[in-house]
Amino acid sequence: MISYLTSTNRPQIFDEGMESDVRRKLDTAIQGLDQALPGTFAALEHSCPNFMYDPKGNYHRWIGNTEELITHSGYFRPQHAIYFSKSGLRKSIPHEIVHMLDTMAGSGSIILFSLTTLYPNRTLVDEANMSSFAKTLLGAITGARICLVNPGAAEFALQELASGGTGMPITQERQEINNFVAERFANLFEQFAFEKLSTAGAKPTYFAKSFYQAITMWEPEWLLAHDSELTALWNGMLTQIMSLSPEQIQQRVLSF
Ligand SMILES: [Zn+2]
Repeated sequence: MISYLTSTNRPQIFDEGMESDVRRKLDTAIQGLDQALPGTFAALEHSCPNFMYDPKGNYHRWIGNTEELITHSGYFRPQHAIYFSKSGLRKSIPHEIVHMLDTMAGSGSIILFSLTTLYPNRTLVDEANMSSFAKTLLGAITGARICLVNPGAAEFALQELASGGTGMPITQERQEINNFVAERFANLFEQFAFEKLSTAGAKPTYFAKSFYQAITMWEPEWLLAHDSELTALWNGMLTQIMSLSPEQIQQRVLSF
């Protein structure tokens, strides 16, 4: 079940429900993502997230903002909640849903799956011997324009994550690297959904179209050329979420 909430004038207090115009726009954004990547809505419902409409964006005061771009929205793990303001509603809902689902998938998350595929023995697989799927994963992280402009960034992030494994204490530096990789996948699937909808002839609203020319994004041709592998990666994450019982979902949220 998805909870729809709206902030009151009191800080950090939310009431049940959402005004119909906001709810309709939110539903349209979610439907767009589900149309591009079928099964997403079912996994979202299964994850029991909270959508918190905060028209004034007051949540920035208490949840902080680690995004590379100012997005006017954020996924806040301790409350398993996607907070969004008016501009967040127009631009960031698909992006935040990717963060939320990938977090909920836990050990089946796209990030961890990618790293164990790329670093089976804690050293990067030799590119000459890489499977085509592993190459796609590597491209997903290192093919973003941000990594092409600064080639050290992607390699640093991948090597650090691989050498530390997942049981390492979360230092500030490690958190920044985790954030870097998490941002790549949120951006990637947000743009992937947009390109798929556009190619299908739709005019997707509630996707931040102007961002896709930005330095952090991918060439559309690369995304569409890797359609089947990226879709398989996404579906693997959805399958992982759907395999959780309601009790396991609840346990996971409590552990955040
Ligand atoms: Zn993000």
